[in-house]
Amino acid sequence: MEEIRVAVAGAGGRMGRALINAVHQTDGLVVGAATELAESGLIGVDVGEVVGIGRVGAPIRPDLDEVLADFDVLIDFTSPTATMHHLELCRDAGRRMVIGTTGLGPGQREAVSEAAIDIALVYAPNMSVGVNLCFKLLETAARVMGEDADIEIVEAHHRHKVDAPSGTALRMGEVIAETLGRDLDQVAVYGRQGHTGPRERASIGFETIRAGDTVGEHTVWFAADGERVEIAHKATNRMTFARGAVRAARWISDRERGQFDMQDVLGLREV
Ligand code: NAP
Repeated sequence: MEEIRVAVAGAGGRMGRALINAVHQTDGLVVGAATELAESGLIGVDVGEVVGIGRVGAPIRPDLDEVLADFDVLIDFTSPTATMHHLELCRDAGRRMVIGTTGLGPGQREAVSEAAIDIALVYAPNMSVGVNLCFKLLETAARVMGEDADIEIVEAHHRHKVDAPSGTALRMGEVIAETLGRDLDQVAVYGRQGHTGPRERASIGFETIRAGDTVGEHTVWFAADGERVEIAHKATNRMTFARGAVRAARWISDRERGQFDMQDVLGLREV
């Protein structure tokens, strides 16, 4: 079997470093190229040396343009602007992509969908295998218990996180609301304080904790009379996202075109 050559954009970033390690640890995948911003002090340094795994023969380059011949799949966890630039280059050169960058605006998400007419790509704001499995479990739990249970989503993250509730918690709420035919905008309750009155049966509650160095924890309660089911996920380090992205890179490598997400990669769509 031929090795799949993977490029990592933003290889000096928090996710970029985890991704280089994850690719290196995966049989059948090799680091083909790595990029960073032109002003980075890492330009020219072998990316394997940057992450402490020894030389891998891929010096960090300032633009993906220079290394288009050196990879089959690009994994991109950078910024929306950089991702749009990489999308254009990969579309023109016929290279596959795995996009983990979050915060894309509606026009940028549209550009991703349009590029998928010509190239194959996976785009998912949470690449953790466990979180994507939880989305599926939540559908089942909502279908079985949703009409009789009070549903609350509790999430905890580190003290530096600036948005609340987390994107993952919101996506969990959307999955549940879609399954139950509810409009999340109408039924979401964000935190509670003071004289709130009794709980509305159809509401979906969000509770947020910000404390210490918590990487990311989500627990969804389905609380009925006499019993409670909890579906919980705890991320303990970034390798969970990197391993999911690497799994996506392998999965996309024999697809020609189309936009996919982690539900496709993990085969959860048909479950
Ligand atoms: P980070 O540490 O800031 O890493 C981003 C890296 O990309 C930085 O090294 C940055 O360089 C570099 N970069 C920016 N523009 C570039 C360009 N044009 N070419 C090459 N490299 C460029 O951030 P992070 O924590 O790794 O997160 C990166 C993204 O992944 C964020 O959008 C985050 O939300 C997302 N994320 C997604 C998942 C998921 O599962 N989908 C999980 C975790 C994070 P400078 O530092 O010099 O600016």
